[in-house]
Amino acid sequence: MSDYYDVLGVSRDASAEDIKRAYRKLARKLHPDVTSDPDAGDRFKEVSQAYETLSNPDKRAQYDRGGAPGGPGGGFGQGFGFSDIMDAFFGQGGAGGGGRGPVSRTQRGQDALIRVDVDLAEAAFGGERQIQVDTAVLCPTCKGTCCQPGTEPATCDICHGQGSVQRVVRSLLGQVMTSQPCPTCHGFGTVLPSPCLECTGEGRVRARRPLNIRIPAGVDTGTRIQLAAQGEVGTAGGPPGDLYVEIHERPHPVFTRRGDDLLCTLEVPMTAAALGASIPLETLDGTEEVDVRPGAQGGEVVTLKQKGAEHLRSAGRGDLLVTLEVATPRDLDDEQEELLRRLAEVRGEVRPAGKLSPAHHGVFSKLRERFGGR
Ligand code: ZN
Repeated sequence: MSDYYDVLGVSRDASAEDIKRAYRKLARKLHPDVTSDPDAGDRFKEVSQAYETLSNPDKRAQYDRGGAPGGPGGGFGQGFGFSDIMDAFFGQGGAGGGGRGPVSRTQRGQDALIRVDVDLAEAAFGGERQIQVDTAVLCPTCKGTCCQPGTEPATCDICHGQGSVQRVVRSLLGQVMTSQPCPTCHGFGTVLPSPCLECTGEGRVRARRPLNIRIPAGVDTGTRIQLAAQGEVGTAGGPPGDLYVEIHERPHPVFTRRGDDLLCTLEVPMTAAALGASIPLETLDGTEEVDVRPGAQGGEVVTLKQKGAEHLRSAGRGDLLVTLEVATPRDLDDEQEELLRRLAEVRGEVRPAGKLSPAHHGVFSKLRERFGGR
C-alpha cells in the first residue's frame, strides 16, 4: 500500500493548494496522451487516486486517522470506484470494442493503517493491549448480498449485463471508440431493485471494534505490524484487507533511544566523581548500580551492557549508556565552605593557575566530534 502523501510527493501538513499543485504537475507529466512510458498509466492512476482522497477534506481526515477510503468498489454509498473509471479510460482489457465485461460487486477490501502510541518500556520489551479499530465490516442485515432480504440483483437493461457502453470520443489521435462503464449499473452489469437499507447496497458498513494486539519487543517509531485480514471488509462480501498497526513511541522523561540503545544523563556529586562511587539508577527494568570511577569527569559515559531495548529481529538487547554530569556544589554552609577551602589549600589551588587543555581533550574538540568535523 503506497502512502498517498508519498505518491504526490508532499508533506503530511501540505495545504490544499500544495496538493493541487503537486497533482497538476504529476498529471501533466504522466497523462497517457503525453508520455509513451508504458508505466505512466498505472502511475497516473495511483497519483489520481491519492489526489482524489487528499483533495477532499473529509476523506483526507479519514485517511490521516488510519482509515482507507475509496478503493475497489468505491467509497461508501458510491458503489463505483475511481480506478474502474481510469481503467475504462486507459483501456485495460478493453481491446476490440468488445467491452471488458461487468465488474464484480465483490471486491477485496483495502488494507487499513492505524497508529498506536506506546510508552518506551512497551516498545523496548513488548506487551499486549487492546486497540479500537474503525473499519468496514460485513453488513449485518444483508450479509453482503447488498439486497433487501428476499430480493436479488437484476440484469441491467441499458448494457444488458455487459457493464459497459460504447462511445465515440475525439482525442489527440482522432475519433476513437471507447468503452465506458454503463452509467446506469456503474459497470456491474446488474442493478439492485431494492438495495439493503442499512448499507445502501454496499454490503458493508463502518463499525468500531476492539482488537487485542501483541506489541513485539524492540519495536520503534515507524515499525508496522501486519495483521492479516483485519483491515477493511470488501464490498458485497469481499474478503478483508490487512490491518497495519504503526507504532509511535512516546518520548520518555528520562531515557532517549538510539536504535536499541538507551541514553540518559546521571548527575553525580563532585565528591563522588572525585572519590569514586556506586550510584543506584532506576532503569526501565529495575535498579542498576552505575560504577563511577575515582576521578571521573563530566561527560564520561558508563555503559551498562544489555540494559537497553530488546532487539526486534534477534536475541539480546542494546546497551544503556549513562553520561555522567558532575554537579558542583552550591549553597555551601560555613562548615562545608571551610572544608573546601582547606582542600584547596592542601592542593595548592587557592589561586589556581588557569590551564588550557590540549585541543584533543577539550570541550571544543568534543563539540567538533559531535557535529561530525575532525
Ligand atoms: Zn446491507
